[in-house]
Amino acid sequence: MKAVIVGGGISGGAIAWRLAREGVAVIVLERGRLGREASWAAAGMIAPQAEAQSPGVFFDLCMAGRRVFDATVDRLTVESGVDPEYDPQGILYLALDESEHAELIARARWHRECGATVEELSPAEARRLEPAISPTTVHALHFPDNRRLDNRKLTQAYIAAAIAAGAEFRENSRVDAIATAGGRAIGVVLDDGGRIDADLVIIAAGSWSHEIRGLEQDRVRLFPVRGQILCFEARPRLLGPALFSLRGYLVPRRDGRILAGSTMEEAGFDKSVTLAGIEKIARGAAAMAPAIGELRFREAWAGLRPATRDLLPVLGPSPSVPNVIWATGHYRSGILLSALTGETIADLVAGRKPPIDLAPFSAARFARA
Ligand SMILES: Cc1cc2nc3c(=O)[nH]c(=O)nc-3n(C[C@H](O)[C@H](O)[C@H](O)COP(=O)(O)OP(=O)(O)OC[C@H]3O[C@@H](n4cnc5c(N)ncnc54)[C@H](O)[C@@H]3O)c2cc1C
Repeated sequence: MKAVIVGGGISGGAIAWRLAREGVAVIVLERGRLGREASWAAAGMIAPQAEAQSPGVFFDLCMAGRRVFDATVDRLTVESGVDPEYDPQGILYLALDESEHAELIARARWHRECGATVEELSPAEARRLEPAISPTTVHALHFPDNRRLDNRKLTQAYIAAAIAAGAEFRENSRVDAIATAGGRAIGVVLDDGGRIDADLVIIAAGSWSHEIRGLEQDRVRLFPVRGQILCFEARPRLLGPALFSLRGYLVPRRDGRILAGSTMEEAGFDKSVTLAGIEKIARGAAAMAPAIGELRFREAWAGLRPATRDLLPVLGPSPSVPNVIWATGHYRSGILLSALTGETIADLVAGRKPPIDLAPFSAARFARA
């Protein structure tokens, strides 16, 4: 079997790895450079308990994402030769005023009801875990099995492991349309008019996924949600856990860099860093850990989160062209969900039952709407 994957971000890379290991002939087509869009811009949290705002299918998906990640990351590291710096320090979720305190109490309750591990900490207990937190902290949650990693290295790891398993990656190859015959996909058409034949096409093109012609009947629409990040230089291990709050987050890297994020903006495909974005992030970062104010600023960037109307990913077959599979719309959680996405698509292709019920994530929901 030959599969074409459209999009060389983390989703395309993770799928390529899993399919290539199973003997599928894989070609990944990337219109620019591999892994340079949202997957490059992210903060790298593997944080289902910080991301989901309520119990339900999205929370269950994120929890499954972390489990599959834990079960996969060592094998990925060995097969790729790239260490994604998966760090076990957990996430400390801070409340800095009384309304945030109420939010955290409610969050801890539903996490426990769902069977997730959560520790409620007094300000003194939280400070023992991370002395740099703000003196105005009124309450904190610790998620000991939420994690972080370097998403750029993780993307490289998927790509390197996929290449080692036989996958081919082509940069500067923009897919324009699905080529069809008799109602089925027979490959893709590139913007230079060239055609690449395939038995199966997987759409993993992030915020641009719906621009590929030939799948209009599925009514899948993505819209980009811009997120800006500020990056500071510190000594390694200045922060232990990543810090999260309703005002933003701080994510340390092993080399000492600290990433502060982020914004949630509908600004089209504009990846600018703005003064308003810098101001919002800096204010949130300093509120969580005042010592950040003394750190040397290094750089800032922005990326586009691929969002659908209901903010859920699209995973599974196209309702209109049966041998096309959607794997996009990962919004704020595409790093966390990367291993699960790869496994799920490989299961679908092999005719196995995926680790999660895909019904809530089917593209059919848009056709019905
Ligand atoms: C600031 C920020 C912080 C984030 N933090 C986190 C986090 O901490 N944890 C987490 O889990 N997630 C996080 N995310 C979300 C995560 O980055 C995304 O969900 C994820 O990267 C999506 O990956 P993707 O491969 O689907 O899309 P992308 O990385 O955008 O890749 C899509 C690729 O498809 C290519 N492409 C598009 N159209 C075509 C075409 N026609 N032909 C060929 N190629 C095409 C693009 O060039 C691109 O390389 C964050 C995102 C941002 C912006």
